[in-house]
Amino acid sequence: MIDFEETDEQKLLRSSLSSLLSSFGDEYWRQKDEKAEFPREYFDSLAKNGWFNLNVPEEYGGTGLGLSETTIAIHEAARTSGMAAADLIMAICVFAIHTIKSFAREELKRRYLREIASGKHVMSFCLTEPSAGVNTLDISTTAVRDGKEFVINGQKIWITLAHEATIMSVVARTTPKEKAAKRTGGLTIFFVDKSKIGPDGEIRAKRIDDISMRALGSNEVFFRDVRVPEENILGEEGRGWDLLPKLLNAERISTAAMSIGVGELSLSKACSYAKQRSVFGRPIGSNQAIQFPLARAKAELESAWALAQKAAWQFDNQIDCSVAANVAAYLGARAAFLAADRAMQTFGGLSFAKTSDIERHWRDSRLFRTGPVPEEMVLSFLGQHVLGLPRSY
Ligand SMILES: Cc1cc2nc3c(=O)[nH]c(=O)nc-3n(C[C@H](O)[C@H](O)[C@H](O)COP(=O)(O)OP(=O)(O)OC[C@H]3O[C@@H](n4cnc5c(N)ncnc54)[C@H](O)[C@@H]3O)c2cc1C
Repeated sequence: MIDFEETDEQKLLRSSLSSLLSSFGDEYWRQKDEKAEFPREYFDSLAKNGWFNLNVPEEYGGTGLGLSETTIAIHEAARTSGMAAADLIMAICVFAIHTIKSFAREELKRRYLREIASGKHVMSFCLTEPSAGVNTLDISTTAVRDGKEFVINGQKIWITLAHEATIMSVVARTTPKEKAAKRTGGLTIFFVDKSKIGPDGEIRAKRIDDISMRALGSNEVFFRDVRVPEENILGEEGRGWDLLPKLLNAERISTAAMSIGVGELSLSKACSYAKQRSVFGRPIGSNQAIQFPLARAKAELESAWALAQKAAWQFDNQIDCSVAANVAAYLGARAAFLAADRAMQTFGGLSFAKTSDIERHWRDSRLFRTGPVPEEMVLSFLGQHVLGLPRSY
């Protein structure tokens, strides 16, 4: 049975991460956001202090913890330092370590898990394409077999950290849609090491001037004649679609934790300000018009967190977590944006000054209502798979 009380080990995990995070304050993240610059010092500090070992299995030299603990670390980073600090933990612990330990061949695990834990790699997850959008089955990036290798050509968009990444997981078509044995067949996920793509291969990342998590950054990515050995297939050839929920559920639980954390950060800043800012001779927080929306945001964050914990527990216990993961991501993103938006309102004009940091949390918290899974897609999933209503697309 799920225990919502955190264990002593989990509390210790929170407090030790929190002391590392305290070395990187608002000023640090504001500047990284402003310059759209990778937080290298923070990344190195996480690696040096063993945080990328968190969910590496013990037989590969790691701490061997699960998604529940990873989610707690992500939540702690978001509620102390904001979205970019948390997303970087997700990029390494979920996109890189979780993907490799769950789906890669033994040789890749032996080689890369230790390297990733030591801070040698940054990973990107390359799924979205300009012409396919949320319809993953419409992707047109191809991987064509050539002996014991595959050659990847195509274009992705909105790929977080692709300009810094040394390794990537890339979803590509190995069988054209019309020739696939079933509607969801023909997709394959490849592990790509950018330093090993053949002499004629090119991976080019073009930065997008975006508004969310600017310290990490998103990119258009172009793959030209990128050679990957067949051993780098994650899971099985042509069965990438079956693997995606296992990857995406872990991502959804992580983004829920991130949303909820950044929502709590906005809320705590708003409450401090509401107590201290005095207008009409009394703190603005004594007005119910200010206080109640903040209380409502707190209620919504609490309920989303309970669901995120449930989803992570189900995930770690190999119980289908699709409903809890999707709903936690949906509720978490909405609660975070509500909290950030109410923080904007509470700070009044001051929230429009970059130095208040509120507008950064507001911009960042908006992201997860749109991606990785837009609200409409969660509602479609619930409508079709939980409520049994007709497929809407
Ligand atoms: C900052 C940022 C970082 C990102 N990082 C990554 C990353 O690292 N890797 C990666 O692969 N992707 C990444 N993404 C992509 C993200 O997952 C997609 O933007 C998201 O899934 C939406 O896809 P789209 O933009 O193509 O929207 P579209 O598919 O064009 O959809 C537009 C809107 O229409 C709605 N819609 C579409 N079809 C339907 C329907 N049938 N019913 C109801 N509504 C519908 C969608 O929900 C959405 O609201 C990132 C995006 C952003 C903005």
